[in-house]
Amino acid sequence: MKLLNCQIDNERFIGLLDNNRTINLSKALKVYSTIYRGEDWFFNSIEDLLSLDNPEFCLKKVADFIERYNLKESLYVESFKTLSPIIRPSKIIALGRNYTEHARETGYNPPEEPIFFSKAVSAIIGPEDAIVYPECLTRVDPEAELGLVIGKRAKNVSKEKAMEYILGYTIINDVTARDMQTEDLKMANPWFRSKSFDTFCPIGPYLVLKGYIRDPHDLNIELRVNGTTRQKDNTRNLIFKIPEIVSYITLHMTLEPGDIIATGTPSGIAPVYPGDTVEIEIENIGILRNTVIRG
Ligand code: MG
Repeated sequence: MKLLNCQIDNERFIGLLDNNRTINLSKALKVYSTIYRGEDWFFNSIEDLLSLDNPEFCLKKVADFIERYNLKESLYVESFKTLSPIIRPSKIIALGRNYTEHARETGYNPPEEPIFFSKAVSAIIGPEDAIVYPECLTRVDPEAELGLVIGKRAKNVSKEKAMEYILGYTIINDVTARDMQTEDLKMANPWFRSKSFDTFCPIGPYLVLKGYIRDPHDLNIELRVNGTTRQKDNTRNLIFKIPEIVSYITLHMTLEPGDIIATGTPSGIAPVYPGDTVEIEIENIGILRNTVIRG
């Protein structure tokens, strides 16, 4: 089940991908809840679903309802803007050097413990927005990463229970001001600013619910710039796997519903320039495509 946040004029709604078409799921949820619950569910974005105890169970019921009563034709939407699947999480946490070859290409050994940092939430853009290349920078790199979306509040979670806290998966481009990051590393300064320029966090287009990905540690991941492949790997090569990542982060801080974790990028990092088109493809999730423009 692939969900997306959509917008037509000023109206936002949740979309459900149905082969190559999109169903207005917000509308379906409203009809379903009126009939079966005697109240309206106003869920205009994926984040709103996080108020449900079990969003996946509920969405499955609504999908069955659409099917059973043949409602698809009345729910299809044709032209809309796709937004980030999570618009304003409480935080974005990203893993550093979580693929061995990538750690080596940046001059480091693979870490013994997860390295994590934050990106500013204000850097989030959707799949149809442009990455703005600031004038003050000389090198900007895209980074292909599998994204996790947290489904319920998580604090001190064990590795064994960690997967229960995941709502689903998405694609993240952890755009990085590499020149600035290299300078900051030399001075032992944080990575925050080099990771957080406006537009440096494209996300989407889909949130794939957890139950629909058989094994998140066996997904091909690829980054292409103007059609040429630069990064190509598989999530089986993540050094720290998803349960360990979630458990480790929650030893330090509470993860809130909707929080986003970028799991780290494979080797093959290289710069982009204004005019370039960046595509990240993750098997069974989709393609995140953004163009780069001059700031
Ligand atoms: Mg990264």
